Amino acid sequence: MIADPGYLPDRSISPDDSESMALGRRARRIDAFAQELRRELPGCTLLTDKEDVAPYECDGLAAYRQLPLGVVLAESEAQVQAVLRLCAHHSIPVVPRGAGTGLSGGAMPLREGVVLSLARMRKIINVDPYARTATLQPGVRNLAISEAASPYGLYYAPDPSSQIACTIGGNIAENSGGVHCLKYGLTVNNVLRVRAVTMDGEICEFGSHAPDAPGLDLLAVLIGSEGMFAIVTEVTVRLIPKPKVAQVVMASFDDVEVGGAAVAAIIASGIIPAGLEMLDRAAAQAVEEFVHAGYDTGAAAILLCESDGTPEEVAEEIERLTTLLEAQGATRIEISTSEAERLRFWSGRKNAFPAAGRLSPDYYCMDGTVPRRAIGPLLLRIREMEKRYQLRCINVFHAGDGNMHPLILFNGNNRDEWHRAEDFGADILETCVELGGTVTGEHGIGVEKINSMCVQFSDGERDMFFAVKHAFDPQRLLNPDKGIPTRARCAEYGRLHVRGGLLPHPEIPRF
Ligand SMILES: Cc1cc2nc3c(=O)[nH]c(=O)nc-3n(C[C@H](O)[C@H](O)[C@H](O)COP(=O)(O)OP(=O)(O)OC[C@H]3O[C@@H](n4cnc5c(N)ncnc54)[C@H](O)[C@@H]3O)c2cc1C
Repeated sequence: MIADPGYLPDRSISPDDSESMALGRRARRIDAFAQELRRELPGCTLLTDKEDVAPYECDGLAAYRQLPLGVVLAESEAQVQAVLRLCAHHSIPVVPRGAGTGLSGGAMPLREGVVLSLARMRKIINVDPYARTATLQPGVRNLAISEAASPYGLYYAPDPSSQIACTIGGNIAENSGGVHCLKYGLTVNNVLRVRAVTMDGEICEFGSHAPDAPGLDLLAVLIGSEGMFAIVTEVTVRLIPKPKVAQVVMASFDDVEVGGAAVAAIIASGIIPAGLEMLDRAAAQAVEEFVHAGYDTGAAAILLCESDGTPEEVAEEIERLTTLLEAQGATRIEISTSEAERLRFWSGRKNAFPAAGRLSPDYYCMDGTVPRRAIGPLLLRIREMEKRYQLRCINVFHAGDGNMHPLILFNGNNRDEWHRAEDFGADILETCVELGGTVTGEHGIGVEKINSMCVQFSDGERDMFFAVKHAFDPQRLLNPDKGIPTRARCAEYGRLHVRGGLLPHPEIPRF
């Protein structure tokens, strides 16, 4: 194969010349693309000026930034199709983008690529109260689905904390979760059908309006594929009836391991609460100062368990939960007695991220998963890491499914602190793997956790992931270099990797 001469360094010219030539090439590339796009799609918005594309340079993982060649604001499936065909023709990589709230850099642009924003495709196509489904364009916000279904007494269960802003297209790409997913399932369990466009412009349908679809379950393959397989243009989701009653039990523990064991005991008893969330002492103190939710700031861990259903079901479940929590060593138990009190209990958990923002100029939100029995041991390991990396970490998490969200506090203006935060984060993820868990729960791999994938999966397993990617996108133009690390990248990571302050093969000199 002959390498594209445009990407080879030319030794006969100075670095300054080479930089300006690269800029010239970039400008010519985007000009040619822009001319063709404007000819084919006169109504389609393409942003190319630096100040116009700057707001798209990162997603919620703001530590990683890159200006793209351009940003296309698509308004219809036909436009998505035409843009993808054009990009495929010019070999221009494409990064799909919803609301840009992702926390793993999945929507971060590529220098030589175009960002394709789906945020303008925000039509609710229909809400069918009889079938209990809603059909939506990809840019519809998660919360807007429940708002549209509310007059029929229905709602869409997966509820990421970012639901006020994030889009259903982004939720599908990340297989997003939330507090209610323990009982009602993740995005993958609540989507019936997806229409999507592949990089060569082909429209495909995955799943169906019926409860099951013939053939291979490619819907489950697409959900969670982080915008690397196809661009979602239409979605049909399942709606469920709003519960008549909901109540929360708030329990305090004087030891995080005891709190973690209580979580495992609840699930083992056969109760699946509508929400089962935990905060460690540092997190409880931070949110209490911020929103005054009435949390026990002396406790080592606070557990919030929500029960929902008919009044009889809730009363019975709350009684079982209370007995069980007492037997598991809870030091204080409170039960919400009104809707206002239930919302106050949750306000602390829901404001944990902004509360972390008040403690430190920056925080780095990790997202790993461990078996429930490993929650306590992981929290103890994180405490040791705080000393090793000389950084504070507060913990709030979806305890019911072992999905941890350690928030590492650091100052982004101090490069050394940022590097320590990155290493701290990688150490947490790899400890999750060691304890039998995974490097992500719901935020995806993106660019953030791509090296940790080398620790979780073997070369052979990653080759299989690439084979699936190849089936959808043989030219590797759709959100490339995200999610799945190459063998070369993993070999490099293995050589440079510092784990727990220890380099592999310390006897080998490094330059
Ligand atoms: C404060 C805060 C709280 C959060 N809480 C949660 C939480 O509780 N649970 C949770 O799961 N996540 C949470 N997140 C992460 C984030 O909100 C979710 O991952 C969300 O699904 C991203 O949606 P988005 O529209 O912003 O997608 P973006 O960030 O724009 O994109 C995310 C990924 O989806 C791809 N993509 C976007 N649209 C499409 C499309 N139409 N077709 C194909 N690919 C597409 C992008 O390429 C990218 O890889 C939180 C984020 C923040 C900032």
